[in-house]
Amino acid sequence: MLRLTEIKLPLDHTPEDLPAAILAKLGIPASDLVQFTIYRRGFDARKRSDILLVYSLDVEVKNEERLLKKFAADHRVKPTPDMTYQYVAQAPTELKSRPVVIGMGPCGFMAALTLAQMGFKPIVLERGKAVRERTQDTWDLWRQGKLDPESNVQFGEGGAGTFSDGKLHSQIKDPKFHGRKVLQEFIKAGAPEEIMYISKPHIGTFRLVGMVEKIREEIIALGGEIRFSARVDDIATVRDAEGNGRVTGVKLASGEVIATDHVVLAVGHSARDTFEMLYNTGVYVEAKPFSIGVRIEHPQAMIDKARFGKFAGHPILGAADYKLVHHASNGRTAYSFCMCPGGTVVAATSEEGRVVTNGMSQYSRNERNANSGLVVNVTPEEDFPGHPLAGIGFQRELESLAFSAGGSNYNAPVQRVGDFLKGKPSTQLGHVTPSYTPGVTPTDLRKCLPKYVVNAIREALPAFDRQITGYAMEDAVLTGVETRTSSPVRVKRGDDFQSINTRGLYPAGEGAGYAGGIFSAGVDGIKVAEAVALDMTGGTAAT
Ligand code: FAD
Repeated sequence: MLRLTEIKLPLDHTPEDLPAAILAKLGIPASDLVQFTIYRRGFDARKRSDILLVYSLDVEVKNEERLLKKFAADHRVKPTPDMTYQYVAQAPTELKSRPVVIGMGPCGFMAALTLAQMGFKPIVLERGKAVRERTQDTWDLWRQGKLDPESNVQFGEGGAGTFSDGKLHSQIKDPKFHGRKVLQEFIKAGAPEEIMYISKPHIGTFRLVGMVEKIREEIIALGGEIRFSARVDDIATVRDAEGNGRVTGVKLASGEVIATDHVVLAVGHSARDTFEMLYNTGVYVEAKPFSIGVRIEHPQAMIDKARFGKFAGHPILGAADYKLVHHASNGRTAYSFCMCPGGTVVAATSEEGRVVTNGMSQYSRNERNANSGLVVNVTPEEDFPGHPLAGIGFQRELESLAFSAGGSNYNAPVQRVGDFLKGKPSTQLGHVTPSYTPGVTPTDLRKCLPKYVVNAIREALPAFDRQITGYAMEDAVLTGVETRTSSPVRVKRGDDFQSINTRGLYPAGEGAGYAGGIFSAGVDGIKVAEAVALDMTGGTAAT
């Protein structure tokens, strides 16, 4: 099989144009082309008047060896690599102990699924509820301002990404094609097949819920066990005088203790109580940088027009996204984060008396507004020095200020971009209607953001407007505060994926500081499952 890359065709090309492009590229007759599949489809919108689709194709041809020689110097014609996923181990029939996975977000469920597929019968402990019940609880906050601190946007089956845009692209290096396994498992569970080949795939909230249930069913069918409302409140360890130790089990909030030698810690970035517990237990935890800021909303039609010109609204292109970065004069970097085309801004707190924003969309991405985080980097050295967990306090403080600026009822504080740039509070909104529920309060966002963040965003808005005309429009809406962009801590692990001072503890995914987003968290889950499986079998390779 050959992989042909950078095959460019017009946006409205016909199906026949694809094989024709292959024949033209390779200079072969139609009779030599056996079959082809699309490996990747992206688009090149640098010239808005002439947007092109860009394909990578896997092509079966006669005389492959001859063609490889002919195109030896052309990087756009190469042999297709073997991308089949190989399990690294197989569990013995008699398991001495079962691995425990804490958290059923994308990292936890991919770790549990991979372990189950290798026969290790994992026990998954999830503090929140099963996804349907959790959906109800999440809607209670969005509709009635009622928060359940154990079942919400951050906590529950499916993890933080369940009520999201379901973007699956990532820039991680993936030499072993773990990402392909993530996508294959998602498709098996009901994701659209196109996620395998389009360059910026997304799933949307509605489908994610059904997928998570299917993955749960498969883990159980393979002998795994999943427990909801099962918060892990302690990790049992034995330690030497230097503080190095190993895991012997986990203790649930109910008091129950489960003995195990292998614990995958996939708790996400909002498990603040769990980070405190880990620190108090002696597990090595350090502070790490993250970003804070606001969500910005514009009319999606304006973003489409700016990005796609006359092709705005084209069904292949869908609702346009963007990615923007500005290096501000105060040394900070302001950038767009987790952009959700045609979506809504959501209330994403997991703690009472706090307001946190994030964004989500349905698969169709057909809501009126585009939203994106507009955030600025913060570091332990400059902004929350002194303690490994200080980033949590820093986040909490801003989230509490946002709660009071919003009216102390889970409404979010909002400000028009025009007012924000002029440094005056908003008293009313313009023609962009904010989508955040349960409600919003026009105010001054300086009440809940540090000055350096406000200044960096003020400088970034006009710079972004030069790239997307209208970005700094008076009526665009800023909603605060976006604080959970990534974990404020890293639970440091070694090359063997185990905590650097606690053997048998496998820090994983976003919460431990090893992933950012659904896709990379899923990939990390597979890698950690492989490390657990190899450790449990003494490194025996799969047969
Ligand atoms: P999480 O998904 O956070 O899962 C951790 C799980 O652990 C949770 O279910 C939690 O309840 C559980 N847990 C925590 N502590 C304990 C404990 N002590 N005991 C038992 N269980 C525990 N990413 C994207 O790539 N694309 C997007 O479009 C996108 N949109 C998002 C929209 C929203 C609203 C949010 C909140 C996030 C979004 N993200 C998106 C980020 C993405 O959700 C995360 O990067 C991803 O979910 C991280 O996966 P994880 O498995 O590491 O952690």
